[in-house]
Order: sequence, then structure tokens, then C-alpha cells
Amino acid sequence: MRIGIGFDSHVFQAGIPLIIGGLAIEHTEGLAGHSDGDVLLHAITDALLGAVSAGDIGSFFPPNDPRWKGAASSVFLQTALEEVATAGYRIVNVDTVLILERPKIAPIAGELRERVAQLLGVKPGEVGIKAKTPEGLGLEHTAVAHCTVLLESLKAPDALAHLVASEEAGSEEELNAVVEGLVGGRHDMTALGRKKPFDTDDLT
Ligand code: MG
Repeated sequence: MRIGIGFDSHVFQAGIPLIIGGLAIEHTEGLAGHSDGDVLLHAITDALLGAVSAGDIGSFFPPNDPRWKGAASSVFLQTALEEVATAGYRIVNVDTVLILERPKIAPIAGELRERVAQLLGVKPGEVGIKAKTPEGLGLEHTAVAHCTVLLESLKAPDALAHLVASEEAGSEEELNAVVEGLVGGRHDMTALGRKKPFDTDDLT
């Protein structure tokens, strides 16, 4: 298993649509950003990339790249999901915290959870959406998102199933091979099909 953590923040700005978790939300202000400013999907994307040591959202989608101006953040999320799949993992669950003064998230939390689950390709019960107001933080015009993800290896069940099915099951060689597969090489992330190498100067 692997875990990942993600964080993001965006400032509210009048006259632009508010998009959180891939959902268009009725409000007088939206979140400013080079993309659609979806603070929640950005935090989830970073948590997924971090869980497989694949860099961060800025290393894949630099904010100064005109290709991503106004981009739907679901594109970023999709890339992170591909990195997770390439590494041989699947999502166990995702938990998030949104911190913003307005709009109130509680009335739309269920819809938000379903939308995020749909984008992640998981069940709504595998997604947590929690919202807090920024009391004492002086962040009345800012939206903040935190995210934690838990991943599990796709290889472990395969290796165990093979062991059970094998006529050699129980032999020392077979057992050693499975243990090596479960504990050894799969932690080597250097073979990932990354589209762009991680650049520490490009942290955003
Ligand atoms: Mg962002």
C-alpha cells in the first residue's frame, strides 16, 4: 500500500465561474487560476501523484504553459490516475477537507462526493468530502483543499492467486518468488511511464 497527501489554495475572484470537484457551483465569485481553479481536484491530483512518487501537478502542467489556460482540471486528474495505474496501484479511498467561508458546502456535499467519485472511477463510499470555515485564519477570500489518498497494489492479489493455483505452491522457490514480488522490486518507481521528469525548480 502507499499513501499520498495533497494541498492547494486559490483566491476568489468576481465574475468567473466557481468549479469545485468538477462541479459548477452557483456563486457570485469563482476561483482564480491559470486553469479552471478547481482547488479540490488540484489537491487530489497532487495526492495521487505523490502516492506513486511521480512528482506534482506543476511538473506535469506548468502554470506558465498556455496550453493549460482555462483547462478543465479533470484533465490533470486523469493524468494522475494514469500514473497510479502505470505504477500498478488502485485507489482504496480518498479523503478531503475543503476550507472556505462561502459558499456553504454541506448542502451540496453529497453531489460533490458523487462527482469526485465519478471522476476517480471509484464508489462514492470511497470518497470523503468535509468542509470547514477558515475561522481565525484570515482566509475569507481564499479556498483551501487538503487531500489524503490510500492506494493498494494490483500485483499482490495476482501473485497470491498464482501461488494458490500453482502446482508448485508451497515450494520454497515459488514462495520466495512471490515474496520478492510483493516486497521487492515493485517499490522501484524509476520505470514509471512519466510524461515529464520531475523538476524541483517547478514546484507550484
Ligand atoms: Mg491549484
